[in-house]
Amino acid sequence: MDRQTAIGFIGLGQMGHGMAKNLAEKSKRELYIYDVNPGAVERFSKEYPGVKPASCPEEIAEKASTVITMLPESQHVQNVYQSLSKTIDESSVLIDSSTIEASVARELAENVMSKKAKAFDAPVSGGIIGAEAGTLTFMVGAPSLEGFGAVKPILEWMGRNVVYCGDNGTGQVAKLCNNMLLGISMIGVSEAMLLGTRLGMDPHLLASIINASSGRCWSSDTYNPHPGVIPGAPATRNYTGGFSNKLMAKDLRLAMKAAQQASNNPTLGATAAQIYNELAVTKDFDSLDFSSVYQVNSHNPQGKKTKACFGH
Ligand code: NAD
Repeated sequence: MDRQTAIGFIGLGQMGHGMAKNLAEKSKRELYIYDVNPGAVERFSKEYPGVKPASCPEEIAEKASTVITMLPESQHVQNVYQSLSKTIDESSVLIDSSTIEASVARELAENVMSKKAKAFDAPVSGGIIGAEAGTLTFMVGAPSLEGFGAVKPILEWMGRNVVYCGDNGTGQVAKLCNNMLLGISMIGVSEAMLLGTRLGMDPHLLASIINASSGRCWSSDTYNPHPGVIPGAPATRNYTGGFSNKLMAKDLRLAMKAAQQASNNPTLGATAAQIYNELAVTKDFDSLDFSSVYQVNSHNPQGKKTKACFGH
């Protein structure tokens, strides 16, 4: 057993499963895994019998110098880091890929570095498909450019683009800005597609015009919310799979909190946050893909006001 080269992975959920799978297949390093859900560990161990399940985060940091976390929210990462801090040493390298508050990422990094270990925030874009395929984009906040260089090859086993964003916390800043824009653009594309089709345009033709014009964006050309326009997009399978309204609502909440801390007031970001917060607590919508925001308005043909209705 070589602790210096071993990797520990904590959080084998929708994203973590695919990421750890790529490490198991490509890294040729010893891989230790942990999740509070024993079912997730069991499933992964069956698929990759060579991996070593651990009984707690402390054991992960004891057995592996490099520890990657992929957890739901700030408090989960804070809890796990509290446990990890009991067994890390100066050779430890902690990489958190969860989407959490930038201020929390900075605090965690300070605590880790007070023990002479290294900490990185490395949230991702690319979704479950990118996690499975190993094509994620990593946005990395690092203690130094040199430190970034050391972790880049590890992240490249799971991603196609690994970008240095600056000091600790800046990876989370990049992620929150991207997802705020994504939420806004998805609502915008939904409104444009709905207006056009209500005014008699063929949705496929309208999308092809937008995608060759100045309105084009990822929400229109890759993830169009009108059913059937983009084969394979969640809109073609009743908005199942993909990135849930709940997760988009969380990211927009984080973006709004960060904006408040920076005395910034993004008007459209706040509107998008309100719309997705409502979807996240609306039965039958909470777990649907975030492009299902299109359905809210299309189910509302008379322009009747609903709680979640593009803020109208
Ligand atoms: P998920 O809920 O599917 O997985 C989280 C995993 O963490 C679960 O298996 C859970 O059991 C485990 N966990 C929770 N608390 C734990 C603890 N204390 N110790 C150990 N394990 C614990 O979430 P996900 O969809 O994989 O997302 C993970 C993170 O990635 C989130 O921050 C999310 O915002 C972000 N993200 C998700 C997507 C996506 O498309 N799902 C895309 C980009 C980023």
